Amino acid sequence: MGDTAAKGTLSIVATPLGNLEDITLRAISTLKSADAIACEDTRRASILLRHLDISGKKLISYHAFNEKKAISSIIKLLEEGLNITVISDAGTPAISDPGYALVRAAYELQANIIPVPGPSAATAALSVCPLPVHNFFFAGFLPHKKGRKSKLEFLASIESTVVFYESPHRIVKLLGEIENYFSGPLVFIAREITKLHEEYLCGTPSEMIERFTDEKIRGEFVVIVSPPGKDAKRQRTKIKNKFDTCDKP
Ligand code: SAM
Repeated sequence: MGDTAAKGTLSIVATPLGNLEDITLRAISTLKSADAIACEDTRRASILLRHLDISGKKLISYHAFNEKKAISSIIKLLEEGLNITVISDAGTPAISDPGYALVRAAYELQANIIPVPGPSAATAALSVCPLPVHNFFFAGFLPHKKGRKSKLEFLASIESTVVFYESPHRIVKLLGEIENYFSGPLVFIAREITKLHEEYLCGTPSEMIERFTDEKIRGEFVVIVSPPGKDAKRQRTKIKNKFDTCDKP
């Protein structure tokens, strides 16, 4: 890398998914020392900053719909030697959130780029998942229309656990597709992680669909699908039996 001395630092900072106590000490000090904070939603960022007793910060709105313009103003500030902190609404920026294009632009500028790691819904869900997690593929959100079918076919063919992000409006549709495309899968659902109504469920896609059919579906979801493979059937039976036993009073 070339000379980065005159450039500012771009800090990519993870923030809580729900429980504000999940903020890290380093996230707080990075936010405190930032010359400006780039955030998806300035109102949400202000709530977090107020909670952390941080005031008087310049906030730069940076979201999917103003990405190009926001990146060029952030890059200018980095060129002037200012330190910019990036946060998203929840979790880790750039993980199914704005961030990647800015990191690329800052990399081309040869600015310093540092992560301040912390919560992410995918890793939080994987950390409590009873399905094999030693090898996983992060699929994030599926495309809504074009490319959805081919993506599902591809995901069903890989030898690894698959992690999806999904909204409440499409959770039942996604579970139906998992049932159809994957061969005999088990799914683990992490809903509203760290929030008041957090919930963790494991079963077949049709059991999960049944579970959600009668209720008004709310919240945010991570869906983890078991991997295929020669051991898969045995693994699934073992895990399923364990869960069936746990369910019994
Ligand atoms: N950058 C975030 C991260 O690091 O996890 C993800 C942002 S993405 C726009 C939002 C999606 O993440 C939600 O639709 C859901 O799939 C997942 N998610 C975020 N918070 C969650 C939570 N508390 N519980 C379950 N899933 C969550």
